[in-house]
Amino acid sequence: MSEQNVPFYHVNTITIDAIGEPGQRVFFLQAKDENQALTFILEKVQVESLSVAIARLLSEVSKKKTIVDEKDFEFDEEGMHIQPPVDPLFRVGEMGLAFEEDDQKIVLVLQEVLFGEVTAENARKIALRCTPRQLAALSTWSMELVNRGRPICPYCNEPMEKDHLCPKKNGHKH
Ligand SMILES: [Zn+2]
Repeated sequence: MSEQNVPFYHVNTITIDAIGEPGQRVFFLQAKDENQALTFILEKVQVESLSVAIARLLSEVSKKKTIVDEKDFEFDEEGMHIQPPVDPLFRVGEMGLAFEEDDQKIVLVLQEVLFGEVTAENARKIALRCTPRQLAALSTWSMELVNRGRPICPYCNEPMEKDHLCPKKNGHKH
């Protein structure tokens, strides 16, 4: 994904939240700077993969240089809920994540989902420039959020995936 001519935002706060009943929840990503709140729609599976991708990037960068510590992965739930107005700019398709050595920031690029009139040429894109700490907390919180919508396994007390391999049942599905 080309990052030319993509508007950049320096993010003060960034979070993901879910609205609606379990099973029908809609996930929103909201980033704020001094002037405005930008809100985007994500699929649950995108929230999950973003959470994993952030954690992976942070751990990779940290092998060379410590940019976050354990405490940065903690979140304050009060601060993680999105604020109205929830007026999404677009539904997210492709996402990109990159660490910028120069200013020690992580850039999250969101591209509008390609659908109907929206093509790779005219899809809107936005680059959110975040601190490693903002994304560390986001990663932990968004994984918890995804898991909250899942039923809890009565055997191991872990959230059940579609094909739950239960450690308490020696990895058998149930
Ligand atoms: Zn289980």
